[in-house]
Order: sequence, then C-alpha cells, then structure tokens
Amino acid sequence: LVDAIATQVGVALIQAEAYANLQDLNEQLEALDRTRSNLVAITGHELRTPLSTIQVCLESLASEPDMSPELRQVMLNTALADAERMRKLIQDFLTLSQLESGRVEWHPEPLSLNECVELALSHLHARNAKNDLPKISNLVPQNLPLVEADGEWLVEVLTKLLDNACKFTGSDGQVTVEVSRHSPQSLEVTIADTGRGIEPNRLKTVFDRFYQEEGALRRSVGGTGLGLAICRQIVNGWGGAIWAESEGKNHGSQFHFTVPIVSESSSSKKSQDVNG
Ligand code: ADP
Repeated sequence: LVDAIATQVGVALIQAEAYANLQDLNEQLEALDRTRSNLVAITGHELRTPLSTIQVCLESLASEPDMSPELRQVMLNTALADAERMRKLIQDFLTLSQLESGRVEWHPEPLSLNECVELALSHLHARNAKNDLPKISNLVPQNLPLVEADGEWLVEVLTKLLDNACKFTGSDGQVTVEVSRHSPQSLEVTIADTGRGIEPNRLKTVFDRFYQEEGALRRSVGGTGLGLAICRQIVNGWGGAIWAESEGKNHGSQFHFTVPIVSESSSSKKSQDVNG
C-alpha cells in the first residue's frame, strides 16, 4: 500500500511539474508576442517619422517651382538625411532580427584584439566626413593573448561602441580604448569617454532596443537606438558580458565587454587540423 501511495504521489508531482512548466511556457510565449507587437509598433513609428519628412520636402519642391535655390537645397538635404536615416534603421533592424532569431552562423577564429581595434578605428575615420572626432587614444597592449570570436562581428561591436563614444563626447573630448585581463579565460575591452555620461538608473536601459535619451523627435546626433542592442546580442553570441558604467551626467561613460581567450584545447585542435 505504501508503495502504491508513493507511486501515486510521484505521478501527481510529475503532473504538477509538467503543468507548471506548461504555464511557464505559456507565459514566455505571451511575453514574446507582446515584445513582437511592441517592436512592430515602435519600428512603424520610427520609420514613419523620416518618411513623413521626406514626403513634405518632396511635395514642397514639386508644388513651389519658384522656391529660392537656398531653400531648395535645404529641402533636398533634409530629405536626403532622412532617407539615409531610414536606410540605417532598416539595416540595423534586420541585423538585430537576424541575431535575435539565432539565424547567425558564427565563425569563431583566433584573433588579435590589436588588429581588430585598428580596423574599427580605420572604419571610424573613414566614415567621419566632417573630421570632428575627439582625441582617441589606443592603449591596447601589444603582447595580449589571442581571443576567439567571429572577427567581423567583433569589429562591428568595437566600431559601434567607438562611434557612440565619439558621438556623445564631441570634438573637444577624449576617447580611450583599453584591454585588461577579466578572468583566466577572458579579456575585457573598455571604451571610455569624457562625454555627456549616463544617469545611473539608465545604465541597463541603454541596451534596450530604440532607447535614446533624447527620444526620437529631439535627436540631434543621429543614430537608430539599436546599436547597443545589437552589441549585446553579438557579445552574448560568444558567451561574453557587456555593461556600461558612468559617474552620471557630464562625467563620461565607460562601456566594457568580455571576449574569451583562445582555449588550449581549441588551439591544439587547430594545430592538429593544420598538421593533418
Ligand atoms: P544610438 O547611438 O543609435 O542612439 P545606441 O543603441 O547605440 O543607439 O545607444 C542608445 C542610447 O544610449 C543613445 O541614444 C544614448 O542616449 C546612450 N548612449 C550610448 N552610448 C553612450 C555614450 N558613450 N555616452 C552617453 N550616452 C550613450
């Protein structure tokens, strides 16, 4: 009898656990659905704003043939700037969706962080048509161990963080790139700036999609509000962490992320592969 009761209790416990798991799953699915609806609504709004501006500009250009050449140029420049903003938004949005859906194929390889930082800096300089970057100091030591990550995505994270540091600092400030040992298995990259800083209660929110302190309509420095969400997805892809620190408004910010050092086993496997 005792055995029979024990079996019954066991079955009941398993059923209760299965039911709880099912409820968990249901809640997760509902949360996912809410996120998806929010995302569609926000993306729609973010795309409609520049599109409306482009439409107003083109309508004015079409309906006012006597418009002064100066005003015509202003209208054209505004429409072009908003078209570029839409292009970036769609590109970032597609990248983020690709990363979030797990459809990215990672190609990890041994990499020199020095070379990746140099590459990211050259991208940054190439894109800076206005020539208004702050002073950038590359303090990454030369004798670092190799890290293991997908090179293209690692350079993407570095470029986005450097781009933000410059954008929110202004040409009279200072941006620094450093690398230190985070743990026996990983290095920590730090990109620090002397710019406008981040309120302590916003240090986590900045990684949310479409978070921008000024809001979409008062944005003065451009950007899509998706850059840090993309960085977080990429860093999570190699099992790393990413976080922000700041002493608060106008006290600069530091963005840190970790990246694994090439492990003994994977480097010996690679040399076996090379040697056949
Ligand atoms: P974007 O830069 O395109 O607006 P991000 O996702 O890269 O979008 O950044 C989100 C927000 O986080 C920015 O709009 C800004 O408010 C804040 N932020 C990011 N980097 C910095 C930084 N280095 N200094 C101050 N604020 C920052």
